Amino acid sequence: MSMPLRDPLTDLPPPCADAPRFGPSPRRATRQVRVGGIAVGGDAPVVVQSMTNTDTADVASTTKQVADLWRAGSELVRVTVNTPEAAAAVPRIVEKLAMMNVHVPIIGDFHYNGHQLLAGEPACAQALAKYRINPGNVGFGKKRDTQFAQLIEFAMQYDKPVRIGANWGSLDQALAAQLMDENHARAEPWDAGRVLREALIRSALDSADRAVALGLPADRIILSAKVSGVQELIAVYRELATRGTYALHLGLTEAGIGSKGIVASSAALAVLLQEGIGDTIRISLTPDPGASRTQEVIVAQELLQTLGLRAFTPMVTACPGCGRTTSEFFQELAKSVQEHVRDKMPTWKITHPGAENLTLAVMGCVVNGPGESRHANIGISLPGTGEAPAAPVFIDGEKAKTLRGDNIAQEFVAMIDDYVESKYGR
Ligand code: SF4
Repeated sequence: MSMPLRDPLTDLPPPCADAPRFGPSPRRATRQVRVGGIAVGGDAPVVVQSMTNTDTADVASTTKQVADLWRAGSELVRVTVNTPEAAAAVPRIVEKLAMMNVHVPIIGDFHYNGHQLLAGEPACAQALAKYRINPGNVGFGKKRDTQFAQLIEFAMQYDKPVRIGANWGSLDQALAAQLMDENHARAEPWDAGRVLREALIRSALDSADRAVALGLPADRIILSAKVSGVQELIAVYRELATRGTYALHLGLTEAGIGSKGIVASSAALAVLLQEGIGDTIRISLTPDPGASRTQEVIVAQELLQTLGLRAFTPMVTACPGCGRTTSEFFQELAKSVQEHVRDKMPTWKITHPGAENLTLAVMGCVVNGPGESRHANIGISLPGTGEAPAAPVFIDGEKAKTLRGDNIAQEFVAMIDDYVESKYGR
């Protein structure tokens, strides 16, 4: 008896019971921390934050950059507070931002002299929404514990949360040496990398526990333990996530410039976010000379949105183009559509809530164009080489119109605006 032929497309084996889960794991349970008006941790969405690179003492340029970062979507902005002049500038920056109707919590980044600056500028201590403390840079020798305690006391006095942010580049050397000694006594010593990762984790956790012992509630503490290597960062945060319920700030430190920084940060953070680890993120990019600081905000938003964790701005699906695309028109249209919706989003956020969930497709030819366009809310399939000079537009899976002539770009953008108006307008 002959065996029936098997159709490889339809005769699939039964699904495996332990097939990998689809989508991110549930968020790890953390204590929620209020930073100004923004909730971090608990059931709050993962928060996007950024940091200025201006001299904080320069009130005008710092105010402008904070406003730019906020307009780009940064929900928290950190500024360097390193000198008495910078500390004195903070309340003026916060006041100017309020006058501009920019209401973003400002975080002060302190190293070495934070205790003196907060003591010398009570208005700065009051104006900041959170203090960032690096346990490796609080002070040296016997002064370290005293100065750390002073910082925590200021946080309690002014009712502020803190981030205890350990960093590979400023690891608490005394703790690292202690753990190295303990490691030598192990029957099976760890490798040096694991000891250093443990030192970083312990530096953050021990400092947080010390802050709690001093009287700061645990729901006013966010932790971070940043390194510059992708695999090390994943290992550190996986471990940190198992050892407490403090809210976690994720970021790859010194990620680098250009595509290297974007890829490295995205690779590390995507793995952790997919595992439900992380309550707020910062993408630490080195901007190209003269480039806008806001790129780190856009990358952070796009990372969260492509993972399906949050929606910030309509997503444009575009094919890469190939030998079938006849001109640069297709690339220009994809770019102008992306820029158009990004420019519109701050207004739509208020006037057309939900528009951030819109999906768009700009495709270069008939091969995948109509199919991909049907999957989007609005999609256009441009004519490729040798195709009729017509661009069908699909709305919610149905062919709605065919655009022709010299004004395809303007007409397509107008259709997007009409769709947003009819679907999300109040
Ligand atoms: S949709 Fe067409 S133009 Fe775009 S990559 Fe595929 S074949 Fe090339």
